[in-house]
Amino acid sequence: MTIHHILGFPRIGARRELKAALEAYWQGRLDEEGLRRTGSELRRRHWRLQQEKGLDFVTVGDFSLYDHVLDTSLMLGVVPPRFAGMGGGLECYFAMARGNVKAGEQVHACEMTKWFDTNYHYIVPEFRAGQTFSLGEAGLFGEISEAQAQGYVAKPVLLGPLSYLWLGKTKGGNFDRLTLLESLLPVYGGILARCKALGVEWMQIDEPVLALDLPQAWRNAFESTYNRLQGGGLKILLTTYFGGLGDNLRLACQLPVEGLHIDAIRAPEQLRDVLNWLPAYKVLSVGIIDGRNVWRCNPAQALDALREARERLGKRLWIAPSCSLLHVPVDLEQETGLDEELASWLSFAVQKLDELVLLRRALDEPDDPAVNEALAAAARAHAARLASPRTRNPGVRKRVREVGEGRQARQSSHEKRREAQQAWLELPLFPTTTIGSFPQTAQIRRVRRDFRQGVVDEEGYIAAMHDEIARCIATQVSLGLDVLVHGEPERSDMVEYFGELLEGCAITQLGWVQSYGSRCVKPPIIFGDIYRRAAMTVAWIGFAQSLTEKPVKGMLTGPVTILNWSFVRDDQPREETCRQIALALREEVQDLEAAGIRIIQIDEAALREGLPLRRADWPDYLEWAVHAFRIASCGVDDSTQIHTHMCYSEFNDIMPAIIAMDADVITIETSRSDMELLEAFEDHTYHNDIGPGVYDIHSPNIPEVEHMVDLIRRAQAHIPAERLWVNPDCGLKTRRWPEVIRALERMVAAAERLRADYRAA
Ligand code: GLN
Ligand code: ZN
Repeated sequence: MTIHHILGFPRIGARRELKAALEAYWQGRLDEEGLRRTGSELRRRHWRLQQEKGLDFVTVGDFSLYDHVLDTSLMLGVVPPRFAGMGGGLECYFAMARGNVKAGEQVHACEMTKWFDTNYHYIVPEFRAGQTFSLGEAGLFGEISEAQAQGYVAKPVLLGPLSYLWLGKTKGGNFDRLTLLESLLPVYGGILARCKALGVEWMQIDEPVLALDLPQAWRNAFESTYNRLQGGGLKILLTTYFGGLGDNLRLACQLPVEGLHIDAIRAPEQLRDVLNWLPAYKVLSVGIIDGRNVWRCNPAQALDALREARERLGKRLWIAPSCSLLHVPVDLEQETGLDEELASWLSFAVQKLDELVLLRRALDEPDDPAVNEALAAAARAHAARLASPRTRNPGVRKRVREVGEGRQARQSSHEKRREAQQAWLELPLFPTTTIGSFPQTAQIRRVRRDFRQGVVDEEGYIAAMHDEIARCIATQVSLGLDVLVHGEPERSDMVEYFGELLEGCAITQLGWVQSYGSRCVKPPIIFGDIYRRAAMTVAWIGFAQSLTEKPVKGMLTGPVTILNWSFVRDDQPREETCRQIALALREEVQDLEAAGIRIIQIDEAALREGLPLRRADWPDYLEWAVHAFRIASCGVDDSTQIHTHMCYSEFNDIMPAIIAMDADVITIETSRSDMELLEAFEDHTYHNDIGPGVYDIHSPNIPEVEHMVDLIRRAQAHIPAERLWVNPDCGLKTRRWPEVIRALERMVAAAERLRADYRAA
């Protein structure tokens, strides 16, 4: 029988039980025992599911109370000194994840960053010179026993030593993380020995960095590492995912371990090469169900690939989803709001287990009529999606072709546009603005929920939102900000909001995917051609503008960001879908302009994170991403000012693309990096306006006027004063009103100080 297994299951729970428990625990409504009980109930449920479906193992160690990389840090004894004395246990664990107060002092959390090219964030391990490792708190062993006590065959999963080091950062001086490997490996050795002693036969070790461009020294380290880890008598399945092995393929095939897992969804072409290079003693686990997307698999295609592998490998062929199922929602069965046809095209984590089982049976029991019937049904569903008129709109396709093939440029150079804009805007030097959202209060969330549940009617909802917008405008006017925003009260999420309004896009009720800790997102599902039914933002922004003489910025989420934060149809290239979104946004931009909104911001918060994992694939991505932005933004008059916002601080790599976007103003995150990153803008001779964020909105601290003045002065070392804006790093939705008011008062004061100094000079 073909062995079938998964690399990991979503941990948050079908009803976000983990979220509820975590938040109750943090608020003191639930004790530690209660929190841990929720954890073990979720594990029990997920293991039982794997068992019931007939998988050959249950995967253990994929569960985490916050993040599996953080768990790995604790297991390896990597706790930064500032958390010392916090005791062990959950206090220290959550302090590392979220920050804490120790003896009246704020202890800041560890950094968080994106897990490869997903929207999941992990807690970045911090390494110091002379870092030591020791077996620390490890829930893993207990969980293995827990699974065994429930009668399951446990296959534990562990983040591999090289990926772990790669994903961390050095602190207090820069040194080569690879030098830590020597002292790290004995701890890994100890962990494996302990697992072996618990009766584990197969251990899954994740080394996803094998799908990246690795320096030679790191590649070399793989062989010696796995030589050292071998020999404990435990069998290692080395797993890679999120991309092809590329130049690491031979290396990965030849490592001294018992099995290799490859992603045959993202990189189907690598299967044949792997079959050629894999030594005859090794197991190959083929990731053949898409762990990153929600479409039902096409069994014919999957089986074609698997049959060849089966012929070559016989019993050494295993099958699995391409990666952990962490990145898809839990259970489609819960979605009562999706129409039947659309639902028949989809597969969430639970359904993916069924698909896996079906493929297994198709391989092992090809003559079973029930299997063939199920295969035929899956093939029909797949074919129905491809052929459905709901996925294609000839009018949209025609318009995209017309607009999409044009070069897409503004009418004049930025210099000329700047004059035309300044003629009506008459902005002072160092104009002040914010990034879009204002606090999303409990009141706002309540009204939104009541509206959704029909407790409040549309009229009542609009009135409540108008009150919020009016409050937001009045506050900004009294603060003396120069360019105002409406505050985004009507948006629970910057992508979901547009997902709900665009045709070709579906929103689930419970399709939550963990983003970090207790935070989940509900990515829209883009199943068909995208277009606007009607204007999406004009009424809200128009209302805001009617309340003030000052300019109000129209606020849109950019095409690349909507794409990167959605589940995207897989029956056409992503860039094609992106162009369709861009066209819908272009129409919105033009409607805003026609309604008298003459400053329009198009957020591209996810443009950078969408960069492919391999550098060789960057130019192609950047080209279509920039082009999509230009489709959205270039259909306006010279005197209409286009802003974009990007909340990150690494631009060096992508500067030519940023320049090519040609936004009149770009606001970016800079407050924590002391404006150093502006060097990139100088070196690449960026001529448009920039608003380098002067304070960190993630922190509740109220910034000092002096500090903000100082930051802008530093910025002036790179960018002429005439082109600088003054704004926070990002939107203010997570802050509270009193904080926001005090921070913005000071930000405006800082701008005034800068102006006075400039005049005096
Ligand atoms: N306009 C959005 C806001 O202010 C931008 C958010 C973001 O960049 N992530 O909330
Ligand atoms: Zn931002």
